Amino acid sequence: MREELEKLKNELSNKIGASRDLEDLEKIRVQFLGKKGAITLLMRSMNELPASEKPLLGKLLNELKQAASRELDERKLELQEQLRQKQQEAERIDITLPGRSILTGRRHPITLVMEEIEDIFACMGFQISEGPDIELDYYNFEALNFPVDHPTRDMQDSFYINKDVLLRTHTSPVQVRTMEKMAPTLPVRIIAPGKVYRRDDDITHSPMFHQVEGLVVDHGISLADLKGTLLLFAREMFGPERQIRLRPSFFPFTEPSAEVDISCMFCHGLGCRTCSDSGWLEILGAGMVHPNVLQICGYDPELVSGFAFGMGVERIAMLKYGIDDIRLFYTNDLRMLRP
Ligand SMILES: [Zn+2]
Repeated sequence: MREELEKLKNELSNKIGASRDLEDLEKIRVQFLGKKGAITLLMRSMNELPASEKPLLGKLLNELKQAASRELDERKLELQEQLRQKQQEAERIDITLPGRSILTGRRHPITLVMEEIEDIFACMGFQISEGPDIELDYYNFEALNFPVDHPTRDMQDSFYINKDVLLRTHTSPVQVRTMEKMAPTLPVRIIAPGKVYRRDDDITHSPMFHQVEGLVVDHGISLADLKGTLLLFAREMFGPERQIRLRPSFFPFTEPSAEVDISCMFCHGLGCRTCSDSGWLEILGAGMVHPNVLQICGYDPELVSGFAFGMGVERIAMLKYGIDDIRLFYTNDLRMLRP
């Protein structure tokens, strides 16, 4: 029996020494100390031994069991440490590898220009006002003094949803909505940035584009106030040496109306391809608010006056960044967003 125990002990030590991983070691533990393990079975068979041999063999068996547990635990720690080292090795960072650069973007040119326009007018005391993209015919045309037979009211030129509802063709309805809300409070001094929709599609027109509308209503507002405001805007946006000129034009909701040009910053007025040799670039439409519009919106045109203007944001961005095709803004070319 003693020899048998000695043999078992050696066998166990050899096996533990040869174990390569924790899984191996667990198998050995089960083989010797598990429910049907060799040592466990021996302990169970103690009852069959003569009473005289029991104390000594019991003691030896207990010693063997303890020694086995200890050896198994020690080997377990060793194997765990080996595993940890192996993992660390595998995760080691090679600091000589070139780094992966993080792709950064920037805001879209349209967003940048919108924000710049907003900043310039905010400095002049304008507040920002917004209106819905899906608009009633009433706000888009009727309240803005558009004649019933005006061509832009045609189904061919505007995106109508039904007879009374359409995608707004300009940001001017915000003028009406703002005045309706504020009348008879003065002054009204707002800009309204946003998207507008028209059935146009070529290198200078897109079916969706952005406008910024401006409106001032107060006592004694004159064309000089309009001109001064737009001159300051042009110089803030395109440089301090810019000049502006107003050419007579027609809009149903302003009277008188004007197209506003700035002196060409590419040729400084000498004439070039961008300004079609005229030395001037058209950037917006403007005028004095039509008395009918003031009246419809709750202001007395005998007592107050105002001016309004509207500009295309894409047009301004194209001039500012030298972009010659409006569609480039919407084709998701990532170069548009590269810093
Ligand atoms: Zn020019």
